[in-house]
Amino acid sequence: MKQEANLRLILLGLPGSGKGTQADSLKKKYNIPHISTGNLLREAISKNTPLGKQAESYVQSGELVPDSLIINLVKEEMTRNHGARGFILDGFPRNLAQAEKLDIMLKELNLELSLAIEIKLNEEILIKRLTGRRTCSKCGALYNIYFNPPQVSDICDVCQGKLSRREDDNVQVVNNRIKVYWSNISPVIDYYQKNGILHIIDGNQEAPGVFADISQIIERL
Ligand code: AMP
Repeated sequence: MKQEANLRLILLGLPGSGKGTQADSLKKKYNIPHISTGNLLREAISKNTPLGKQAESYVQSGELVPDSLIINLVKEEMTRNHGARGFILDGFPRNLAQAEKLDIMLKELNLELSLAIEIKLNEEILIKRLTGRRTCSKCGALYNIYFNPPQVSDICDVCQGKLSRREDDNVQVVNNRIKVYWSNISPVIDYYQKNGILHIIDGNQEAPGVFADISQIIERL
């Protein structure tokens, strides 16, 4: 696939499976927008917008935000990002109703999905990835206390800023997010399998290996 071609890609996988990291790399390589519903919701919550106020309690407890709110958010983002050029969706769809709504949205724009990629990995690794995740509140650098710890506990190596943990990365909420994921995602995976666009990737590898596997699938399109 040429770099300028229209790539409309969905990344599926448990929270912590590395969708955000992969989306970031894909965005740079293929020059298409990364639409992360989780990031958009966290931004709305931190800015205290009407959407943020409605979504806050769901995000904090790891429950799904109501479909109507999410679908409007994705619609707005696609329009703003000129969806026709392509996109990487990360964290959406999370259930069958969202997958069906997405198809309707795309049909109206005369578009089709290119690929749905499911990143699968061992849940023990995943729990450590999430509960160990820390971000520098000053420069945004990412760490993990198990796999990539800072030299000094809770302090950024780059700028000495204080490291913080996402509120929903605590053990209790992480377990709930995993439970919520599995109870909603199976029909979505079946749906894309039936459409013939689903590919499964081994997410237990390091990020560059996962990226190489995804790129290979894209190049074959
Ligand atoms: P994420 O960063 O993708 O793990 O999302 C963080 C939280 O945002 C989730 O636990 C949900 O509360 C909410 N969220 C993100 N995407 C969706 C979605 N497609 N549908 C419903 N809720 C979502």
